[in-house]
Amino acid sequence: MISSRTFTFRDKNLEPIWDKVRSGERLSKEDGLALFASDDLIGVGRMANEVARYKSGDAVYFVLNRKLEPTNVCVLSCKFCDFAVRADSEQAYEMTLDDMLSKLRPDLHEVHITAGLHPKWPWEFYIDMVREIKTQFPNVDVKAFTAVEIDYFSKKFKKSHEQVLRELQQAGLRTMPGGGAEVFSERVRKELFKQKIGARTWFEVHKTAHRMGIKSNVTMLYGHIETIEERIDHMLQVRDCQDETNGFLSFIPLAFQPGNTGIKTRNDFTSAIDDLKTIAVSRLMLDNVPHIKAYWVMLTAEVAAVALNFGADDMDGTVGEERIAHDAGAISPMELAKNKLISIIHESGKLPVERDVWYNPIELYPKKEWSVVSKMPYLNSVPFYQEFESHLNDIKIAPLIPSALGKFARDGVATAGPLSLRDFMTVSEDFERLDYGIAVKGKAHSVLLFSKYDWSELKGKRIGITADTSTSVELLRILLEKKHAISDYKFERMKRESFRNDYTQYDAVLLIGDEALRCAYSGGFAGFNLMYDLAEEWCSWKELPFVFAVWAVRKDAPEAVKNDIVRALEHSLKASTGHYAETGGEYGRLLGMSSSQVEHYLNTFRYRFSIDEHTAMAEFEMEYESLKNVERAFSLSADLQSV
Ligand code: SF4
Repeated sequence: MISSRTFTFRDKNLEPIWDKVRSGERLSKEDGLALFASDDLIGVGRMANEVARYKSGDAVYFVLNRKLEPTNVCVLSCKFCDFAVRADSEQAYEMTLDDMLSKLRPDLHEVHITAGLHPKWPWEFYIDMVREIKTQFPNVDVKAFTAVEIDYFSKKFKKSHEQVLRELQQAGLRTMPGGGAEVFSERVRKELFKQKIGARTWFEVHKTAHRMGIKSNVTMLYGHIETIEERIDHMLQVRDCQDETNGFLSFIPLAFQPGNTGIKTRNDFTSAIDDLKTIAVSRLMLDNVPHIKAYWVMLTAEVAAVALNFGADDMDGTVGEERIAHDAGAISPMELAKNKLISIIHESGKLPVERDVWYNPIELYPKKEWSVVSKMPYLNSVPFYQEFESHLNDIKIAPLIPSALGKFARDGVATAGPLSLRDFMTVSEDFERLDYGIAVKGKAHSVLLFSKYDWSELKGKRIGITADTSTSVELLRILLEKKHAISDYKFERMKRESFRNDYTQYDAVLLIGDEALRCAYSGGFAGFNLMYDLAEEWCSWKELPFVFAVWAVRKDAPEAVKNDIVRALEHSLKASTGHYAETGGEYGRLLGMSSSQVEHYLNTFRYRFSIDEHTAMAEFEMEYESLKNVERAFSLSADLQSV
């Protein structure tokens, strides 16, 4: 269930739509049209804000990024494009590799590259571009080339889409931008950009990328000649593709800038009402796309701040630095842009979260008076948050995977959350334990070792470890060394963005949370014939439950905050107990699980702790401390902390 809130709408047509949204039912095309037709803008925005809170808590993401447009020379001349010129134009420019490198700095996390379709540049130049950036700036993730460019490379250099993407991926490409989508309408395409690829090729390229583990964004250019129905159709096509590949990270509605295109008069911009409604409707229609972006450079800071309460949860990044740098004074443009983003997000009452290209949180920037509580973004944690958010004041919710919560707890930024047991052990001086957490006696179904070998054959084998874990990796170590007497094994931390093709290089792979569930419910993956449930292994060995996470609150947190958290947990657990199919239905549906599977899964967990769970925690701590190679365990975990 997405929300238990009831709203009073000025437009009564929104009531049945809200009933669908709050229960996690997918909206239809007619619902989308009704949302656009409604004059109850606030009503539409409140619904979208509830969905965004369900997905991202109070977090609003931004990234330290830089946009590179290596050339404006393009072989096409799309009607709406105010950027491209012919090679012989006075405005034509071409950047060298050195020009590009000189624009980057090591503290960036993303470089976003798109350009005109250059008639002469050789294939090697593009490969060198990606490789050189990755070599000189290893921390900068390369997000490059729209589907239009990929298709152009494919035709020009006589390579398949897959070959083009494979070579770029090998050079260091991590993700793709979502440009070139415009509006997926043949009518609009024929009118405005008839030489450019249409929806079929655009999706073909993105689906190929997604299959290869290259995630991407998707844009929608609105506010020109498209109809509202065409906007909704665009969203529905994105939703269908996402059902198939789960490869889109964010949806970006882009307001059309008339400029000198001649399509509209120069100052005929979209209205703030249209911008806000489009963002809100996108959030409501695209139930399976994780993030909706308010591209602040185009929207203006004022509209973007409001958009963050209309369903957007991402502001892109510091791309607008040059513009801001104009009045920058002594502060570096990047710092200024970052501070500006943080203040816009604060102004909207949300929590700024600096992210990487994959939305892994790098830093949190709460206001001093705010407490940050983690929302574990796994299905097994849904019962904690059913009524949580409506019971908290001055508390901001951030979705943090176990290893990230551990890091932010150690850094003193996170106030409370379901800490992984292993992380709780490292912060127990500063945190107090509550009698809530995630424990299981028997199978957990979501802490799984997929293996090519039996336990007894894992000696000397390479085991890939998910980057999410803090406790399960130590549980695996204990099981290997203490239960199965195997000490000679190699753990290798996998990148968070690893995909299934990467798993095959290992002899066994430890997965947790939703990724483990997804793999288990889709029948595992090729080559790994054995699947061990680590909780079941522990429980049958110790005849005790296994505790994965324990709720803990900073000892120095205000009493009112501690009381609020306990009250919210009680309310949530009471509201969800006996209704797990409903509580986790929406979440499970996106994982491909039926409501009875969700109910069965959630029923396996114990969320309130008794003496049994406390005994189990003590037993785990004892086993963990007694491992002979505890040094090695810490060094691996330290590595994981950087995730
Ligand atoms: S392909 Fe891209 S850069 Fe070239 S004219 Fe069209 S929109 Fe502009």
